[in-house]
Amino acid sequence: MATTVGPQVTEHGGGVWGIRVPIPDNPLGHTLVHVLDTDRGPVLIDTGWDDPASWDELSGGLAALGTSVADVHGVVITHHHPDHHGLSERVREESGAWIAMHAADAAVVRRTREAEPGTWLDYLAHKLSAVGAPDEHTAPLRAARASGRLRTLPGLSSALPDREIVPGELLDLAGRRLRGIWTPGHTPGHVCLHLEEEHPAQLPGHGRLFSGDHLLPGITPHIGLYEDPDDATVTDPLGDYLDSLERIGRLGVAEVLPAHQHAFTDAGGRVRELLDHHEERLTGLLGLLATPLTPWQLAVRMEWNRPWEQIPYGSRNIAVSEAEAHLRRLVKLGRAEAVPGTEPVAYRAV
Ligand SMILES: [Zn+2]
Ligand SMILES: [Zn+2]
Repeated sequence: MATTVGPQVTEHGGGVWGIRVPIPDNPLGHTLVHVLDTDRGPVLIDTGWDDPASWDELSGGLAALGTSVADVHGVVITHHHPDHHGLSERVREESGAWIAMHAADAAVVRRTREAEPGTWLDYLAHKLSAVGAPDEHTAPLRAARASGRLRTLPGLSSALPDREIVPGELLDLAGRRLRGIWTPGHTPGHVCLHLEEEHPAQLPGHGRLFSGDHLLPGITPHIGLYEDPDDATVTDPLGDYLDSLERIGRLGVAEVLPAHQHAFTDAGGRVRELLDHHEERLTGLLGLLATPLTPWQLAVRMEWNRPWEQIPYGSRNIAVSEAEAHLRRLVKLGRAEAVPGTEPVAYRAV
């Protein structure tokens, strides 16, 4: 079903290829940038991390396919994260390609570009204190704020898209049927792209799905909060994610082409596994919440891929937002509640 064109390129048939673009210093290893042949030139689904070695692999991969970055006609972005959208500006500069993204993630890009330096650190420090993080955890954020060394995070100046991916609509691609499916959860504007064409190897099912980070064969994507310093709306990203999973399961696709790991079939089976996994995890958390816990205390007690003491600083922040996402889901389901009068707020099972 898939053949190897070069060390970094896999041919999936029917005018679709995957290029392995490395993510420096990251256990995920690489982003699978997909190339979709159209009558107006190649269209990329995601671009990869903004790094010279990643750029070389992307351009080398396109060269191995007999084309080049300069020939790229358009860029379709599954979500704004730097391992997917990092190289988009450079691709646009070299090719004049358009960049398409869902409006909700385009808003994140715009907000991040326009934010005052330090806004994010202030927001994070305040938010972490509010969920019960100890002072020694928030101190480095305040120190970074005071030092003035603020513009070191990736994604602070990533490309503003020039087209919108409208949920449920076909993208304007010459000779191809590619439909945007809104799958919020991992980010507010994450999309999967449904290639509504017969599978090149006639596998049973309805076409193929470029699933970004939404549906991956061996890992679960991080589901945190949407983290908007200017918006106090209590969102429910985990609820959004679970709804989006069901929506993708109903498509009945023949094959999934995710942005990490490898292509796979039986999307429906994988969706059920993930739904079960999250249900088990929510039930497990209810056990912990027999005693009232702040989101921070819950994160410390939750099961991660290593003991809490060994989780690096930045990953602890991600873990806490994941704990909060689970708490919001439980509250929304009426299975947990905030304990009145607690500060920082503690939650208990109902
Ligand atoms: Zn992501
Ligand atoms: Zn990713």
